[in-house]
Amino acid sequence: MISIDFYSAVSLYLVFILITVLAIWLFKRQEKDKDLSLDPRFIWFCAICAYTYINTKEEIMSVCPRCGSYNKKIAYQKKSS
Ligand SMILES: [Zn+2]
Repeated sequence: MISIDFYSAVSLYLVFILITVLAIWLFKRQEKDKDLSLDPRFIWFCAICAYTYINTKEEIMSVCPRCGSYNKKIAYQKKSS
């Protein structure tokens, strides 16, 4: 039979739990990073206040959420045309 003292058993148990939690955390973090991709056509840049914001509804004109001015999509930001 394997003889092991109490402190070694507790240490092995804690190391095993820590490795399991670390592995689950790393696996979940990789899954989350895949969902964080954003299409560049949804990113808008305000010409008045220089605020960068995200708007997925409008495609040609959008209203800046900070200053309220209208912004037109800049030609180099379009990928389709
Ligand atoms: Zn603005």
